[in-house]
Amino acid sequence: MNVFVTGGAGYIGSACVEELLNAGHMVTVFDNLTEGHRAAIDPRATFIQGCLSDRDLVIKSVGQAKTEAVIHFAASALVGESMTNPAKYFRNNVANGLNLLEAAKENGVRKFVFSSTCATYGLPERVPMDESTPQKPVNPYGESKLIFEKMLLWFEQSHGLEFVAFRYFNAAGATPRFGEDHRIETHLIPNVLKVALGQKEQCDIFGTDYPTPDGTCIRDYIHILDLAQAHILALQPGKRGFFNLGNGEGYSVREVIDTCARVSGKAIKTVEKPRRAGDPPRLVAAAAKAKTELGWNPQYPKLEQIVASAWAWHVKHPSGYGD
Ligand code: UDP
Repeated sequence: MNVFVTGGAGYIGSACVEELLNAGHMVTVFDNLTEGHRAAIDPRATFIQGCLSDRDLVIKSVGQAKTEAVIHFAASALVGESMTNPAKYFRNNVANGLNLLEAAKENGVRKFVFSSTCATYGLPERVPMDESTPQKPVNPYGESKLIFEKMLLWFEQSHGLEFVAFRYFNAAGATPRFGEDHRIETHLIPNVLKVALGQKEQCDIFGTDYPTPDGTCIRDYIHILDLAQAHILALQPGKRGFFNLGNGEGYSVREVIDTCARVSGKAIKTVEKPRRAGDPPRLVAAAAKAKTELGWNPQYPKLEQIVASAWAWHVKHPSGYGD
């Protein structure tokens, strides 16, 4: 299939592009390289450097690529930043994303696969959460993704554009070639591993007074290769709707730090800090729907495996992509 991938130079996008190509698909990557890296784009893919705010370019590019399916990773994706700069989230994730949706419609694209998030659920009353959990986001990031989910429903109804929206839990891990290198790193696992690498002195623990067994936030970590597998399955005709992608197991911030220490064999110095704005205490997926309806079968469900793959990548790429 001809697949048009926005954000294909980013963390999850780069791994998914690699897997799409391995599965025999033709891939065009569209990325502005503000968050992504040129070196993270698989050389087998065609690359267009451009911004989703450029509506004409987006429409032209989707057409030129003879696109049959769009996979839309490109987005602003930091909970904390969204609390201080909501406009950036509504502009990038909603307004610019709409240009891509229109481009898909204009060019007769058959399938639209969207990176949504468990942050659309807000503060769930129960965990694990399945897809019917009420969506009440508590930060602009989650709200912007929820708005896009709703746009997908209307584009499907009005224009017949079939969509799959994946609500990711916490993406983590690396492939041997592609890993996590954000210009400003806010995520837990890479920050802990930077301490293990000797690149940071200590790791912050944001909040130790949450209603969880050890007082720190609980998240469900999912390997980017397992995310990639789900996207490839979503391309099958007739697959549509909303799917959680997580492992159904929650780990606290302290448990993640302990796992990183064990995997790397290094002591991790930590410092307890106040809560970070917008963080729900506990997010854990019920992901049975993706398994039964898409045939999704995660290969790397254990936190230890996920962290080990990330550690191997960081050891091999101590300066990330080096740009
Ligand atoms: N966190 C932390 N120290 C860090 C980075 C993150 O304690 O240096 C916490 C964060 O407050 C959250 C969890 O780790 O409770 C996961 O955060 P991350 O940014 O990795 O992902 P998010 O769940 O926000 O998408």
